[in-house]
Amino acid sequence: MLELIATQTTRNGVIARRTQVPDAIGPDQIFQRALASKEILLPKCDDCGAYHFFPRVLCPHCHGASISWMQASGRGRVHATTVVRRKPERGGDYNVCMVELDEGVRMMSRVEGVAPSDVTIDMEVSAFIGEGDGDLLVLFKPVEG
Ligand SMILES: [Zn+2]
Repeated sequence: MLELIATQTTRNGVIARRTQVPDAIGPDQIFQRALASKEILLPKCDDCGAYHFFPRVLCPHCHGASISWMQASGRGRVHATTVVRRKPERGGDYNVCMVELDEGVRMMSRVEGVAPSDVTIDMEVSAFIGEGDGDLLVLFKPVEG
């Protein structure tokens, strides 16, 4: 079903209608909507079989346009990490890291549940959905053991 989003009357009196198919949402929205329903989905190319992140309309590996959305394993390792220094009254130090998921894609995120400086390269982490500045985010915590 088409949703009418705008009408415009042209000089000769013709009413032009701009419509949008509600299902035709962008890859970012698909990712965000999945997070809202507590799922982490990753785009995977049907043509070359590779995952990519961030979500895109075309596969960055082969430019294929046929993308499937797969449930992420949620497992990965810290690829790079740093500590952002912040005064205690402004929330204190926090970790910023790049996590490489088992699917081979990397996500900018942070590891929670440990001191920011205790996050190390190659640390095994698992994903969870958290909140930051009102947005849903994929965050990580250390794998126990
Ligand atoms: Zn591809």
